[in-house]
Amino acid sequence: MKIEDRLSLLNYKTDKSFAHITVDHNICETCPDNFCTYACPARCYTLIEGKLNFKYEDCVECGTCVVACSHGSVSWNNVKGAHGVKYKYG
Ligand code: SF4
Ligand code: SF4
Repeated sequence: MKIEDRLSLLNYKTDKSFAHITVDHNICETCPDNFCTYACPARCYTLIEGKLNFKYEDCVECGTCVVACSHGSVSWNNVKGAHGVKYKYG
């Protein structure tokens, strides 16, 4: 099963007023490795024309990006209330 198919099994209740993960784009602009783009299983981090694009809305709350970014760019918080990803199958 492809990752896109697995992700399509998830439900999300997106909190549009609060991004539980933020990145410091000033740090990302000079990043030498872009590890986050390889590490995130939900592909929340992508490069568009060489610039980092981050979208918290598809996050599966695994915490990998905090560890993968060794440059101190990622700030991670728990989602608020009943927001975030909902796992339907285990
Ligand atoms: S989040 Fe971290 S690893 Fe990803 S581009 Fe920014 S500095 Fe680099
Ligand atoms: S917590 Fe996991 S799914 Fe969410 S952005 Fe970070 S690596 Fe991606």
